[in-house]
Amino acid sequence: MIKPSLVKKEKITKLSELPAGGSAKAGVLIDKNAGWRNIRPVCDKEKCIGCFQCYMYCPDGVISKAEKKIEIDYDFCKGCGICEKICKVGAIKMEDER
Ligand code: SF4
Ligand code: SF4
Repeated sequence: MIKPSLVKKEKITKLSELPAGGSAKAGVLIDKNAGWRNIRPVCDKEKCIGCFQCYMYCPDGVISKAEKKIEIDYDFCKGCGICEKICKVGAIKMEDER
């Protein structure tokens, strides 16, 4: 259900004006959603060769290119582990949340 206060803030009056996916800014139409994650990907930047395969395959689009390495947005990463599987050099390891 859409919170009336959020609709007012974005001046959205119709359901058809809402984004189809998670493309809205955090804190406006969507909230941080990684509170339930129990493992997270950690990138060893010494091993990373900057191939950006993880960036291409992340289903949530939370990996960004940063210089020749990657950055992971932990606010939205769901901990699926696809990035670990796709990394050919083993630079990403899933670790327990602390
Ligand atoms: S797939 Fe691995 S080597 Fe390639 S950018 Fe991602 S972490 Fe780096
Ligand atoms: S664990 Fe899943 S959601 Fe998180 S960065 Fe890797 S591929 Fe993306």
